[in-house]
Amino acid sequence: MLVTRTRSGLRAALAGAPRPVGLVPTMGALHEGHRSLMRRARAENHTVVVTIFVNPTQFNEQADFARYPRDEDRDLALCEAEGADIIFAPPVEEVYPPGFDTHVVVGAVAAPLEGAARPGHFEAVATVVAILFGLAGADAAYFGQKDAQQCAVVRRMAADLAIPTEVVVCPTVREPDGLALSSRNVLLSPAERAAAPVLYRALRAAAARHEAGERDAEALRSTMREVLAGEPLARPEYVSVADAATMAEADQVEGPIILSMAVRFGAVRLIDNLPLG
Ligand code: AMP
Repeated sequence: MLVTRTRSGLRAALAGAPRPVGLVPTMGALHEGHRSLMRRARAENHTVVVTIFVNPTQFNEQADFARYPRDEDRDLALCEAEGADIIFAPPVEEVYPPGFDTHVVVGAVAAPLEGAARPGHFEAVATVVAILFGLAGADAAYFGQKDAQQCAVVRRMAADLAIPTEVVVCPTVREPDGLALSSRNVLLSPAERAAAPVLYRALRAAAARHEAGERDAEALRSTMREVLAGEPLARPEYVSVADAATMAEADQVEGPIILSMAVRFGAVRLIDNLPLG
């Protein structure tokens, strides 16, 4: 496994690498969710590139960036165990060298939900992903359903900018109690950690109503709000029933939709979602 920290080092490592090349972009603090992406990439490619970069521009709160968990030695050992070939772990100035002045702005699909709650977030995500796509020239890139809107934004960006990297979305990996794995889970207090599975319970409750025939999106939102209201430590930011392709809020449920939510527990903000249909 080769670890490189420079754009030129990554290009050199990839010059003779056997194709297809699979790319797994991460911010480190790797867990079983990231590992599932690496395994899928390993199974489908001759060369697997994992990037580890805590992208400062996509954090809305400086405190969130400062406390974001980092443990590179552990991350590298884990990548090695999953059979990754190349690790790109650059410093900030290698990704954004002096004079850097280009930003990728994705439109409507990036506007609601996480886009509304975190101004500039998806612009920063689309920009760094465009850089990584450009550097890796990968045949496929692997993302988690956990960040459903991010997947939709990256798909739109790659299609619109004619980037020939297929965007592959992998299922959300959860703890046995339903909590979606997230690097931020380690920041929860024991009481908050015990309360956090309420997100998945709320999503499941709405999914059950949908399964029972409910097609009024507001009724599904109400169900999610009610379940969240039962957990005193949970402070919901939004609950959503949105069109899966456009992320626009639905009125009546017709085609594929995504139930999603953002909920704060103390200083920690968690998101989760469930695709339906
Ligand atoms: P992050 O390091 O949080 O930026 O995540 C890197 C990639 O891992 C993104 O594509 C995430 O959607 C994905 N990911 C994070 N958590 C999970 C999870 N619990 N299950 C599946 N994929 C995940």
